[in-house]
Amino acid sequence: MINLKLRRREIDFLLYDLLKVDQVCAHPRYAMHDREVFDATLDVAIKVADEHFANHAAKVDAEEPHFDGERVHLIPEVKQGIDAYVAAGFMGTGFDLDDGGSQLPYAVAQGLAWVFAAANVGTAAYPFLTMAAANLIRAHGSPEQKARYLAPMIEGRWFGTMCLSEPQAGSSLGDIRTRAEATEHGYYRISGSKMWISGGEHELSENIIHLVLAKIPGGPAGSRGISLFIVPKRRINDDGSVAERNNVSLVGLNHKMGYRGTTNTLLNFGEAGECRGWLIGEVNHGLACMFHMMNEARIGVGLNAAVLGHTAYLHSLDYALGRPQGRKTGERDPTTPQVMIAEHPDVRRMLLVQKAFSEGALSLCLHGAALVDRLATAADDSEHAELNLELEILTPIIKAWPAHYGLEANYWGLQVLGGYGYTRDYPLERIYRDNRLNPIHEGTNGIQAADLLGRKVMMQNGAAFKLLMARIAATIDEASGEAELNEFTAALKAASERVVKTTMTLAAAGARGETDRMLANAWVYMELLGGLVIGWMWLRQMLCIARIASPSEADLDYFKGKRQAARYYYRWELPKLERHAVLLESLDDTLLMTDATQL
Ligand SMILES: Cc1cc2nc3c(=O)[nH]c(=O)nc-3n(C[C@H](O)[C@H](O)[C@H](O)COP(=O)(O)OP(=O)(O)OC[C@H]3O[C@@H](n4cnc5c(N)ncnc54)[C@H](O)[C@@H]3O)c2cc1C
Repeated sequence: MINLKLRRREIDFLLYDLLKVDQVCAHPRYAMHDREVFDATLDVAIKVADEHFANHAAKVDAEEPHFDGERVHLIPEVKQGIDAYVAAGFMGTGFDLDDGGSQLPYAVAQGLAWVFAAANVGTAAYPFLTMAAANLIRAHGSPEQKARYLAPMIEGRWFGTMCLSEPQAGSSLGDIRTRAEATEHGYYRISGSKMWISGGEHELSENIIHLVLAKIPGGPAGSRGISLFIVPKRRINDDGSVAERNNVSLVGLNHKMGYRGTTNTLLNFGEAGECRGWLIGEVNHGLACMFHMMNEARIGVGLNAAVLGHTAYLHSLDYALGRPQGRKTGERDPTTPQVMIAEHPDVRRMLLVQKAFSEGALSLCLHGAALVDRLATAADDSEHAELNLELEILTPIIKAWPAHYGLEANYWGLQVLGGYGYTRDYPLERIYRDNRLNPIHEGTNGIQAADLLGRKVMMQNGAAFKLLMARIAATIDEASGEAELNEFTAALKAASERVVKTTMTLAAAGARGETDRMLANAWVYMELLGGLVIGWMWLRQMLCIARIASPSEADLDYFKGKRQAARYYYRWELPKLERHAVLLESLDDTLLMTDATQL
């Protein structure tokens, strides 16, 4: 690898040793694959990402896309990178053979996404968005829509976007104003503005297929009146060729802090003439269609955040091992050679915190992806229902915890480099800026926290929460046979009991009708349950390592590093949950009693 910073062992450890994703090949759905196929695909991904994505990550950040009033200009390397991605067949990885894809398990597809996000998140966003849009058409489109749109998207000729947000409606999608009026021709006339649309305009593809949320006049108010439409940038002839523009106009590009390689746009629909959209799914079920895809989109965001946390960690580790500065505590002779900064305990702290957060988060995201595969191959309805419950409660955590703590990892990664971290000579500041998006988009972290506590924990009388706690208890039981893990099992057991107690206190407040007080500190609850889940992930990693018979020399060192990160997490981070529990159980009303006009 020349440009790409990646630890392949970490991907292999999580996918194969921990999650055993190759076992899914026993199911007929994935029987055409085996570990060799997965490995070879990862090898190709690393080569393409190294040569065609990582090569221009810094350049596209420095030379961001610009709009000259008519056209959007991007550096040529972006198109070259995406062409290489498409040529290698990666656009089809998540799609079935019948759709022209390669039907890889979702967890393996996320392993590939890891590689490209580590190389260049800005360029990777175009194919990721296209795959997400095509996936939505696959799930909810009519047979005609699938026949028309899927092949050109999977072949990388047409790209896709997700158009939810508007200038005045971000978190509160029920308040969108974009309208869709039925015509006698079978299509709808779309009018309105969409804000923040990633990949909304460019000339990287022949066409852009926008998936647009809009309201049909006369429908119910709020989110129940939202429908979903396919709105192509260019209209499409009956033979599938691309025709004239469809009156989707670019008002301007947003100039962002990070992710600069991805164009981000304010689009007007129907401003300069008729903009045609085609209903996808049922009238007024648009948000449900979008949310159907959200679990996977949120795993994608969490994974990107965790990957950026890990990539920066690897950069800072290299730096710390090669930067001489100062001498060990107690060494007073100035003529002795300097030590590398990795010798200083405080620098080790900064390395350990990054490793603990990012590798904990990566294992959680891939666990979520493996749940998606297990759902697709579940033996019966009851197994399917259980897996679904687990995924439901984990999804807001998978999105928000890595987004928050991946960024915190980046804070410490940059700090390891001292002044150099603050310059553009090293990628740390860019990665930090890129990662700052992840707590904001795909439902802000505040919205995820409210979803976790208000909906997912409380739903079906706490069924998902109870299931999650049972899963954690099962790992504790399994690990209690391993004496060397005693420290971890005891701590996780105590923390789980505390989380249950706190959750019952909050649920009781909700049952008394004190919903405001129950939900006011939802972010702290995300810290509490998220922190516990990451502790669970680290115990699972330790248990997995304890059971690997006769590891190689290289693995022995790698496993020792893992153990130190687990120990750091359990001694430094897990005890913080107690503080969160105390605050939550007091039903603290500081936030409710604050008048923001007095601040
Ligand atoms: C770079 C970038 C790319 C994006 N790409 C896309 C895209 O491709 N397609 C798309 O549709 N959108 C996209 N978005 C939009 C993104 O999803 C929104 O920015 C996000 O949903 C928040 O909406 P908002 O910006 O209007 O903030 P607001 O909704 O105004 O929120 C502002 C603050 O208030 C908080 N808040 C709001 N309501 C509540 C509440 N009820 N309870 C508690 N706190 C609340 C939020 O958490 C946030 O901290 C993108 C955004 C960015 C910055």
